[in-house]
Amino acid sequence: MALVSMQTILNEAVAKGYAVGSFNVVSLDSLQGILEAATQLRSPVILSVAEVHFKYIDLEYIVPVIKQAAAQAPIPVALHLDHGVSLEAVMRCFRLGFTSLMFDGSNLPYEENVARTAEIVRVAHSVGVSVEAELGQVGGGEGTSEASEADRSLFTDPEQAVDFVRRTGVDALAVAVGSVHGLYKGKPQLDFERLEAIARGTGVPLVLHGGSGIPDEDIKRAISLGIAKINVYTEMSMQAVQRIREKVADPKMISFPDLLLLARQGIKETVMDKISVFGSANVCQAPGVFCDSCGACVMPSGDTCAASAPSTNGLAALSDEEIARMVASVVRGILSLRD
Ligand SMILES: [Zn+2]
Repeated sequence: MALVSMQTILNEAVAKGYAVGSFNVVSLDSLQGILEAATQLRSPVILSVAEVHFKYIDLEYIVPVIKQAAAQAPIPVALHLDHGVSLEAVMRCFRLGFTSLMFDGSNLPYEENVARTAEIVRVAHSVGVSVEAELGQVGGGEGTSEASEADRSLFTDPEQAVDFVRRTGVDALAVAVGSVHGLYKGKPQLDFERLEAIARGTGVPLVLHGGSGIPDEDIKRAISLGIAKINVYTEMSMQAVQRIREKVADPKMISFPDLLLLARQGIKETVMDKISVFGSANVCQAPGVFCDSCGACVMPSGDTCAASAPSTNGLAALSDEEIARMVASVVRGILSLRD
């Protein structure tokens, strides 16, 4: 089916008490591994492309492939920009038909994060694209392979989160409550009380970045308190490397594509493990029963499926002139912050 918006997927997740995995696409093999896992487990899935990973894949090549793969998959799939920090990345993803984006202004002073995020939400919503933002700072840099520990002084403030969501209109909020990107130094300790307060105050689906390496029980508790999207990358990457490492020392192994297949299998198994923990397995499709709206999936309860929402990316229908006007509006908004 065609790509769906992230908000559609997350609304279902919140209503039914599970979380949806957001897995980073860094190559064709990772795309295939993730989609095979989600399809096999009949789970909705969010395919993320991080701005720091643009160096690995040419967006203009991979996005048509992702759209084709999503069209063939019998599950709802959202295409999401992960940690978009530059206006160029955000606009490029609009143009290519992403159905969701994260604008990461967490490094900016608070008022500037509010103003920039609100501008991007305004433009994104005008074309049906969902927006996630970050408040506080999740530890460890996106794409890092260093071990880090969470800095409590950078945790999300629950009261500020309420103000932030109200003023920006974001669809989902990434929170800093003890998770880190990359590997953990020591044992991860999530601040559940803080998480609960943020969820209660903001009322939007919350996002946990750095989902690799957190014990399953802690993940399940975080989901019960309001986490609806969980980002996973490090464990997938480590599993892919591990599978290659096990074979590559053999001098008889000279087949590059066979190494890629091993990596893909490692990614697939990691994604399947995560989907099982997140509780999103089997929410999408009852075997042999298909939804009237989308023709491909149905919720076990017989509800309308997430994918039956109308196609949300209207940008493809806009002219270059209209897009240019939107860009100019965002640029004006950002420049006005300097006055
Ligand atoms: Zn992240």
